[in-house]
Amino acid sequence: MKKWNELVPGAIILDAGNAVQFKTGSWRAFRPQWTEENCIHCLFCWIYCPDMAVKTEDGKMTGFDYDYCKGCGICARECPGKKGKKAIVMVEEGK
Ligand code: SF4
Ligand code: SF4
Repeated sequence: MKKWNELVPGAIILDAGNAVQFKTGSWRAFRPQWTEENCIHCLFCWIYCPDMAVKTEDGKMTGFDYDYCKGCGICARECPGKKGKKAIVMVEEGK
């Protein structure tokens, strides 16, 4: 544990490429919840997510990286879902 006088002013991370160390998911008040059976794997969520927090594998949506998802809700808004049923809905964090 560092002492107070060893901390960088403003708690700034000075290393290059430091964005990965800044887990912005802690800002979240709402989180996206994915229902796989309503997903058509169009990847609109992946395209629109401003934080690259939508995980994919072999061209298919697989879930979210909650370390970096800020809960903005863009993915849920853009998700077309299947037959009128959204594959992503926003739920309050902690519920
Ligand atoms: S936008 Fe919706 S339907 Fe498209 S891949 Fe993402 S979760 Fe699936
Ligand atoms: S809620 Fe926002 S930050 Fe989180 S996965 Fe969806 S688009 Fe990305």
